Amino acid sequence: MKVCPRCKKVYSDDTLNFCLDDGELLMMQQPNPGGYIEEPPTMVLDQARVTDPISWAQPPTGQPPAQWTAPGPMAQQQFGGFAVTRRPDQTLATVSMILGIISLAVSCCYGGIWLGIPAAILGFIALQKANSDSDKYGGRGLATAGIVLGGISMLITLLIIIGAIAGSIR
Ligand SMILES: [Zn+2]
Repeated sequence: MKVCPRCKKVYSDDTLNFCLDDGELLMMQQPNPGGYIEEPPTMVLDQARVTDPISWAQPPTGQPPAQWTAPGPMAQQQFGGFAVTRRPDQTLATVSMILGIISLAVSCCYGGIWLGIPAAILGFIALQKANSDSDKYGGRGLATAGIVLGGISMLITLLIIIGAIAGSIR
């Protein structure tokens, strides 16, 4: 006898491992008079059972849900190659805004050139994508912020360079 911990359905077939209704891992029902449900000892799964993917509260494979692994590659892309950032949603726009903020913070050290220009370019690309395919790409505000911040840091860096040249001439 096995019982589903989710819907309490009792299965007389002991070869079943997962509930046929919701895919929950079945628990071994003890035949003692108390009738309490107990965690089975190490279960040997003979085969993976195909369950309804919509009701996957607990993936039978034992792997963590997909969203747990998502931040890894996205965090890498913030400072990784610019060409690979072809993801839907706001990734490109977010990277653009982050670059813009950093470029502004380091605009005294020519940050406007080596961070502000990429920030503005990425923001421009993200804005174009959001305009042409608004279903797949978003983050128009973020992209605009990246363009503006990148542009400001470019201007500041340009002024610093001009000032340095003027100072050296004098
Ligand atoms: Zn069930």
